[in-house]
Amino acid sequence: MPTTDVPAPQVRPGHETTPVALQMAPRRAVKAPRHFADLTHAERVAAVAELGHQGFRAKQLATHYFAHYTTDPADWTDIPAAAREGMAAALFPPLLTARRTLEADKGTTVKTLWGLHDGTRIESVLMRYPRRSTLCISSQVGCGMACPFCATGQLGFTRNLSAAEMLEQVRLAMRSLALGEIPGGPTRLNNLVFMGEGEGLINYRAIMTCIRTLVADAPEGFGMSARNITVSTVGLVPGMKKLAAEGLPLTLALSLHAPDDDLRSELVPINTRFSVDEALDAARAYFEATGRRVSIEYALIKDMNDHAWRADLLGTKLNARGKGWVHVNPIPLNPTPGSIWTASERAVEDEFVARLRGHGIPTTVRDTRGSDIDGACGQLAAEEEEGDA
Ligand code: SAH
Repeated sequence: MPTTDVPAPQVRPGHETTPVALQMAPRRAVKAPRHFADLTHAERVAAVAELGHQGFRAKQLATHYFAHYTTDPADWTDIPAAAREGMAAALFPPLLTARRTLEADKGTTVKTLWGLHDGTRIESVLMRYPRRSTLCISSQVGCGMACPFCATGQLGFTRNLSAAEMLEQVRLAMRSLALGEIPGGPTRLNNLVFMGEGEGLINYRAIMTCIRTLVADAPEGFGMSARNITVSTVGLVPGMKKLAAEGLPLTLALSLHAPDDDLRSELVPINTRFSVDEALDAARAYFEATGRRVSIEYALIKDMNDHAWRADLLGTKLNARGKGWVHVNPIPLNPTPGSIWTASERAVEDEFVARLRGHGIPTTVRDTRGSDIDGACGQLAAEEEEGDA
């Protein structure tokens, strides 16, 4: 989409990282240390007891974390001062440090590049709209799925994130919104999408720990609605089946990008393991199990997958599996550095959408917020990688 009317991205003062610091970052990926947010309520009580404190301290700490979004012992005024440092050191190791912040849309889209404890990096993108706010988080450092149009796919896979590393992305966004740091006054986070770096269903156990804590009522979790959480996948059929059996009304997004195996195997290489039909069957089964309408993601790439006949084939394949179970989100391709691919022409995009609608498929072109700051597809991290080399 044209981005000429969007202000140039700005690096927020105080968040710059010097190239030297980047060059010195350790390269070996190390699993994150255990954090309070990785634990269930019972485990938190046990962890607090191990430190020699009474169990009710776990609830106090949880209230600070999940309701007030703070890990600063100075804020824990209901806990004896002498106990605070020990608890912080044992249970709240710092996991995320903001390295760089990029803004677009008059500050209502904010992308943060986070440094992790082992020097690896991830990113998250916070988008505020007039009536809601959405956070896009990473579930892995890099990604092993190697989709050629995706910047993260070019980075390769480094490591899985822990549940707490994902929850910290959420806490810090909620804190920023609550503090009124995003223009429009203090507000809450409404939606969460696993559409940053990584394939969440490969890091299944950690994303489920994360999700259970996201939906747990305060003070044991953030009290989010599962309906407002979207898990996006390349179509890992076993993971989709497992997710369907969790008994949570999460939203599932399937990154399809082509309705035919020939092309999809090129765009989403895992298609050679799980075909278009298998992925669509699993998506339909997800709807059966949860009653949640599935989203089909379709990045429109000029002269690649944007043909009218492909829209027709997609419409036919979706309708063959029933009505009312799915909607399609075409996304204009956000071109990645060095790629020969670009977004479809506007008229071609309109025709693609019209064809799908003609088949009775609800279709909404996804907003390209933050495309000028390379939102939601690993480009900032990719640039940093190049800078490191
Ligand atoms: N691994 C998961 C989630 C991460 S990507 C998945 O593939 O679904 C989130 C979405 O952004 C996916 O639909 C992905 O295909 C899409 N995407 C990746 N690179 C893109 C680009 N350059 N332009 C537009 N969409 C892109």
